[in-house]
Amino acid sequence: MRAPIRRFTATGPGDQVFTVNIERDFRYDPYRDFVVCAHCGWSPSLLTMRRLDAMAWEHLASAHGAERGMSQQEDESFRKARRVVLPLCAVLVVVLLVYVQK
Ligand SMILES: [Zn+2]
Repeated sequence: MRAPIRRFTATGPGDQVFTVNIERDFRYDPYRDFVVCAHCGWSPSLLTMRRLDAMAWEHLASAHGAERGMSQQEDESFRKARRVVLPLCAVLVVVLLVYVQK
């Protein structure tokens, strides 16, 4: 089960909006991200030192002619999940500290 965590969008000819998603497999492979184009199935090998966003912009521009209005945002559900998980971790750390000092 892969979930998109970040989206790169740009506007191409005819005001069509193109999207490249960065997806993460939280269950089996949480330390590796995938770059997937929502329009042509482009999904490059990430065995490279290049930045993901540079690759995404380059693909949008070269494959779809989308060079205007480039924006990137975190996926809404991923952002929500992080907002819940981070405070939980903080609480856990505090509880641990209190426990150790006893
Ligand atoms: Zn594409």
